[in-house]
Amino acid sequence: MDKYKIDCLVIGGGISGLAVARNLSSHFQDIFLIEKNQYLGQETSSRNSEVIHAGIYYKKNSLKAKLCLEGKELLYEYLERQKIDHKRCGKFIISTTDEETEELEKIMNNSIDCEIYDLEFNNSQIKNYPFIYSKESLFSPSTGIFDSHSFMSSLRREFEHNEGKTLLGNECLKIEITPKGFEILIHDQNTKEKFILEVKFLINAAGLAAVDIANTIYEEKKFKNKFIKGEYFNYLGKEKLEHLIYPTPTKYSIGLHATIDLGKGIRFGPSAYETTTIDYNHSEKEKYKFYQSVKSYWPSIKEQDLSPGYTGIRPTLEGIDDFIVDINSFNEGVVVNILGYSSPGLTSSLALSKLVESRLSDYIN
Ligand SMILES: Cc1cc2nc3c(=O)[nH]c(=O)nc-3n(C[C@H](O)[C@H](O)[C@H](O)COP(=O)(O)OP(=O)(O)OC[C@H]3O[C@@H](n4cnc5c(N)ncnc54)[C@H](O)[C@@H]3O)c2cc1C
Repeated sequence: MDKYKIDCLVIGGGISGLAVARNLSSHFQDIFLIEKNQYLGQETSSRNSEVIHAGIYYKKNSLKAKLCLEGKELLYEYLERQKIDHKRCGKFIISTTDEETEELEKIMNNSIDCEIYDLEFNNSQIKNYPFIYSKESLFSPSTGIFDSHSFMSSLRREFEHNEGKTLLGNECLKIEITPKGFEILIHDQNTKEKFILEVKFLINAAGLAAVDIANTIYEEKKFKNKFIKGEYFNYLGKEKLEHLIYPTPTKYSIGLHATIDLGKGIRFGPSAYETTTIDYNHSEKEKYKFYQSVKSYWPSIKEQDLSPGYTGIRPTLEGIDDFIVDINSFNEGVVVNILGYSSPGLTSSLALSKLVESRLSDYIN
């Protein structure tokens, strides 16, 4: 079997792998990114709301709070510079009961704890949408939407401009720890051949598969998956929105919201329920629940106004409500496992790549 020696391998061509690979490509001469699919970003990175989050929900000092806040600024700046389509449209978070109004107060207090001072209670502007029912509404002006596919293409271009190599249709099958680092067994679906990469630096950005890969390196079940599925439905009615509309958060999500895309189409979602399999089909059983959730703040909506869109699966961790950037050395090798990288992962990606770069700097130099 052919064996090649390179400096660094990134497993996973979603937004986290691309962002990290792009930053590391200025430090390594030989850096590869492998993606099992034939196109980049076909899993969680293209099954989400494409919202640039403000960072208001996450616990102070958590990695989510830190990376979301920093990532939001870096992302707006990057999109501006690279002329990638985006809109700082703002969002309303609304309450429909007194209990939910208390939740709005908690969100306001949390955002102040996290040093975000642009949230305001605003009940006048939401009246421009008479079809929305709300008791109180909070407005977040720094929330936005963006074209995440153009963003990923731009990261890939920069990575390849720095001589990074992207291998599509290449799947990591096995990882072995060696005295010099790691040997990675890869299956190239294009040639049907297998080959081995010898690497010193390994980045595991495999999304829904990242926990399994990390556990094979540690040879124990150090981390445990908790997959939370979310479904989207497209709105077929005639109302239009210029802002995003969010209800208050639920147990597993920040709420089944109404989002606009850059073409001003409206979609509702994502719902949130546990699953153990990676299956992107809609569940017939969930549709009525979904419809009822939307109806609580959009009372005139009819079931036939909703048409199934896509679904996505949040790669969260059992017992840990945060991102984990797990770095460890084995002999001369160093591995970075990016785990629990669920929402707000798009928003945080450029801050994540800076964090990985800085935490590896001691090993690189
Ligand atoms: C329903 C939903 C809504 C969301 N909404 C938002 C939002 O509005 N804003 C926001 O900021 N974030 C949002 N997120 C979060 C965001 O989408 C994710 O954090 C982000 O896309 C994760 O990117 P990733 O690169 O880590 O994972 P992925 O995009 O899943 O990429 C991992 C890649 O690794 C590849 N791979 C896996 N195993 C192997 C292997 N063995 N060999 C080679 N390749 C492999 C996969 O094919 C995949 O392409 C949302 C997530 C969900 C599920």
